[in-house]
Amino acid sequence: MTDLLGLVPESARAALGAWLAERGEPPYRTRQILPRLWQRPVASWEDATELPERLRRALPEAFPLRRLPVVARQVSSDGTEKYLWDLGDGEAVESVLIPEGKRRTLCISSQVGCALGCVFCATGRMGFRRNLSAAEIACQVREVILQDSERKPTNVVFMGMGEPLLNWEAVNTALTQLNHPEGLGIGARHITVSTVGILPNLAKLAQRPEQFRLALSLHAPTPELRHELMPIEKKYGLPAVIAALGRFRRRVTLEYVLIGGTNDGLEQADQLARLARPLGALVNLLPLHPGGAPDLAPSPRAQMLAFERRLRRHGIEAVLRRSRGLDISAACGQLRVELGPRRNVRAQEHARVE
Ligand code: SAH
Ligand code: SF4
Repeated sequence: MTDLLGLVPESARAALGAWLAERGEPPYRTRQILPRLWQRPVASWEDATELPERLRRALPEAFPLRRLPVVARQVSSDGTEKYLWDLGDGEAVESVLIPEGKRRTLCISSQVGCALGCVFCATGRMGFRRNLSAAEIACQVREVILQDSERKPTNVVFMGMGEPLLNWEAVNTALTQLNHPEGLGIGARHITVSTVGILPNLAKLAQRPEQFRLALSLHAPTPELRHELMPIEKKYGLPAVIAALGRFRRRVTLEYVLIGGTNDGLEQADQLARLARPLGALVNLLPLHPGGAPDLAPSPRAQMLAFERRLRRHGIEAVLRRSRGLDISAACGQLRVELGPRRNVRAQEHARVE
């Protein structure tokens, strides 16, 4: 048994080719079967009706197709959809589909939970449970296509649960599966990895030839404040992270959650501008969503606008993001899953503002 969905397309092709040759099947069968993994995915081999019956019967045993059954699907009043996927071992993760004009951005998870414990983040509060495999990462996109092939995501962002650069092997494979023409064929510029800056693996991402986009979760303009918000600052500190971004060769986005009275002062906007300008970075300002530490308050709207204006006055391209999916707890930093008492998987409701 081989999990073809866990392999990059070239390896899947090789595994299929060897199996077909062993059975005395002509090589062109590989060209028939391979597109059914990612390009025109099938829910099960029986659905690949273009194949002879003997193959449809033999394939499930040799190459079972991993599915991620949907436990729950919620639709926000703004059209954002949240999916909860059953991972089969009592764990579950979420993906969020965000329609925006012609774009459909799927926000995917890379881990169940997260070990890094950023104080403002709901995923951080649930702790770390396990890494996802490459198949579990890329199949979040595959499953959305299986639900409705007309609604294939145009963009993918690693902004769901988990820290992608602490699961590098799987994320590295999944990036190829998402981008490769024989995979999902999503352009590298439409795939964004969001990270707090795990430096050794950031260097590995930088070495990939494709133009994957990078979003760096900064959230504070000084090491002292960042340390209060993000424990990872102890290990990979702000000066080293900024220096690594300078070597990234591609334009990066800095993510900055605005927390009332904590990091939303105009002086802090000035400090942020001094970091962003030499990098030519875009700055994404995010309203604080509920779900993290209860004592944190979102920045008032007028303050967020003033912060954005101040950055722009420094010549920084800053965008204050709209919150999407808040009513179903699907917005950034709100993803969190808990196991029920009988190890039934259920989504935890935690949209209350405290
Ligand atoms: N672990 C990675 C990717 C997942 S988090 C990272 O931290 O970058 C995705 C984004 O949501 C990050 O930019 C994160 O800082 C942001 N986020 C976390 N909690 C949030 C909250 N309560 N409100 C708004 N954004 C939040
Ligand atoms: Fe983990 Fe990212 Fe949440 Fe921090 S913000 S706890 S790194 S998921």
